[in-house]
Amino acid sequence: MRLRNKTWAKPLIAAHPELILVRPENMASQWQTRFDKEQPLYLEVGSGKGQFIVAMAQAHPEHNFIALELQEAAIAMILKKQVALKLPNLQLVLGDGADLTDYFDDSEISGLFLNFSDPWPKTRHEKRRLTYRNFLSQYQAIMKPNALLQFKTDNQGFFEYSLVSLNNFGMTFELVSLDVHHDKRVTDNVPTEYEEKFSADGGRIYELVAHF
Ligand code: SAH
Repeated sequence: MRLRNKTWAKPLIAAHPELILVRPENMASQWQTRFDKEQPLYLEVGSGKGQFIVAMAQAHPEHNFIALELQEAAIAMILKKQVALKLPNLQLVLGDGADLTDYFDDSEISGLFLNFSDPWPKTRHEKRRLTYRNFLSQYQAIMKPNALLQFKTDNQGFFEYSLVSLNNFGMTFELVSLDVHHDKRVTDNVPTEYEEKFSADGGRIYELVAHF
């Protein structure tokens, strides 16, 4: 998902340091101070326009959430929503999922979501996939033991790659679903923007839930 540049994005981000941080490298172990209450912290890497993380924060006031996004124009869309909603349990980060261990302390995260991450289908781009082993080792560092990694995609090839990558890393699967929207085991699915568009056209959604 590539978004057109938004001239209002930078000034909006600069105006709301209480809601968003840009490539925060001095926040490790300090994240709870950004929220009203100290409670389990959940992270989404690649939040897009934020439909999922906003819905999760609304549905789970007993958890704190961070939306991490690489694209300024995308995180600014989430910020716009959050400026209106002021959810006390949602914080935003403009940054790179490749730098997670700079942003977070060991075991700071209670759960991590990857939704419709870019599949990078070319073999020479394998290292960019968010389920490549270098990313997994960062997730492992910042996640609590047994915290769950939840991954959804519409891309069969990327799903199969991820299944193998997580398995080779020694992860344990709690759920492997080949059709989330018709799977009786999945009772609490929160759809993302991309997911709604894709499944409206009849596409299948795959999901992995696993821990280290
Ligand atoms: N989760 C949303 C968006 C999916 S598109 C949805 O399901 O609708 C994938 C998103 O991941 C894009 O917005 C892209 O900018 C972001 N992204 C890709 N690589 C990233 C990285 N290394 N760190 C953070 N975000 C990343």
